[in-house]
Amino acid sequence: MGDIIKRGSEFIVPEYRIIYVTVPDVRTDEPMPERMIFYVDTRFTTAQVKRLREMIVTVLFYWGEHVEQINDGEVSRYESCVNKYARFNLAPVWFADRIANGRAAAAVQMAGFTTQIQANGYGRAAKAYIKYKEPTAGESFTIRGLNASSPEKSSLTVTVNPINLSSTAVGTTMLSGSLFHAWLHREGYRHPAGRFTSYFAGEASMCIMRDNKDKVPGVPASTYTKWLD
Ligand SMILES: [Zn+2]
Repeated sequence: MGDIIKRGSEFIVPEYRIIYVTVPDVRTDEPMPERMIFYVDTRFTTAQVKRLREMIVTVLFYWGEHVEQINDGEVSRYESCVNKYARFNLAPVWFADRIANGRAAAAVQMAGFTTQIQANGYGRAAKAYIKYKEPTAGESFTIRGLNASSPEKSSLTVTVNPINLSSTAVGTTMLSGSLFHAWLHREGYRHPAGRFTSYFAGEASMCIMRDNKDKVPGVPASTYTKWLD
């Protein structure tokens, strides 16, 4: 914790409450925890926490779908989508080898996310805070995840803009892609500031936002990228 936030002329220390999110029951090489643990700023409203929970559940759904499709010997829908669009920065910072294509990159990423889920649920990683931050004048963001580089140890801490979290102009799946993107930064993925198209961290997140479906001609990238940080 430790954050002290200036609000007007006052300083406050955020308070957090624990929420648990059930991990889908899928077949993995190593045991998985039954649930993940998040520390959510108490300034989020009940409706906002409900949406946050739905976003986490959605990200876990896409993880589980990928894992089960791989288990069944298929190319997962996620791999297939990422393979079509991701060209650059395919490897996370901790990955020593070159990654040949988007499909392989997607597999490496989801394996890393499996590690992150385990590290969170078994308490090996630092606590995952869902931090609350109203944008200051001229500031625009949805969900930020600071760059990290160790899926075994780094928390899944993110900072969320409560205004966008309450927006009815954006669907929950879109916001789930935004959360997924923030967690990619925590997993070790990088992209040039403000550039998402063709970069793994951008395209993988947009695949989640589109339910792993193809891009549709005429829909501008900004439809998706405006929710990415
Ligand atoms: Zn980013």
